[in-house]
Amino acid sequence: MEMIKIINLHKSYDQLEVIKGIDLEIKSGEVVCIIGPSGSGKSTVLRCINRLETPTSGHIIVDGKDIMAPETDINHVRTEAGMVFQQFNLFPHMTVLDNVTLGPIKVRNMGKTDAEELGHSLLKKVGLADKAKNYPEQLSGGQKQRVAIARSLSLKPKVILFDEPTSALDPELVGEVLEVMKQLAAEGMTMVVVTHEMGFARDVADRVIFIDQGIIQEDNCPEQFFSSPKNKRLQDFLGKVA
Ligand code: ADP
Ligand code: MG
Repeated sequence: MEMIKIINLHKSYDQLEVIKGIDLEIKSGEVVCIIGPSGSGKSTVLRCINRLETPTSGHIIVDGKDIMAPETDINHVRTEAGMVFQQFNLFPHMTVLDNVTLGPIKVRNMGKTDAEELGHSLLKKVGLADKAKNYPEQLSGGQKQRVAIARSLSLKPKVILFDEPTSALDPELVGEVLEVMKQLAAEGMTMVVVTHEMGFARDVADRVIFIDQGIIQEDNCPEQFFSSPKNKRLQDFLGKVA
């Protein structure tokens, strides 16, 4: 079944056309990695999927709902498609546990006791059971990003969108975050991951997509994508990053 269907997506910022006609289907449980040069529109695509940006034209259907339809509740769209950012975006004045329970309490009207039970179980899942009472500033970058993942899971999203989740981390902290993402993938979570981690894309993705100049230049299984890229721009790109 399709979890995400993008039809002829266009997005401009004023005069600048960034996305120039993207079609993409992602099945339930699929892990799709998106790679491409800086400024090619990768974040814009993710941000359109959960309506942090409004497409200029086209359609985006998430779990059967057209997120552009006037009757669609944008807040509902955002709970269906969770987002994990490069810069974590945790609330600094709240404990780790409160960061994770805020959504369930505010958005899902869950009681505090149930929310905390859920929060503890999610912190355990990301390996941070002992950090519930800490504040974000007391954590390493890798730990903060794992809290951010637990927070996005707290709303039980249908899909999680990761925008360069390890790009702000010291190299030795990248692995612990990728491990948690790998575990989510194994559990069947639908994931769209913008990343420069080619090893992760190769090992975990079902498909890898190369976006450049506002369009999808290549969309293939990891083996073909990395070993015999067809697109000339992708060949050049892999030559530079490999
Ligand atoms: P990527 O994530 O691939 O680096 P982005 O989607 O962030 O690319 O950006 C694509 C292009 O759109 C860039 O040229 C960027 O400067 C521009 N852009 C992104 N967000 C905005 C915005 N809010 N307003 C104006 N231009 C933007
Ligand atoms: Mg980006």
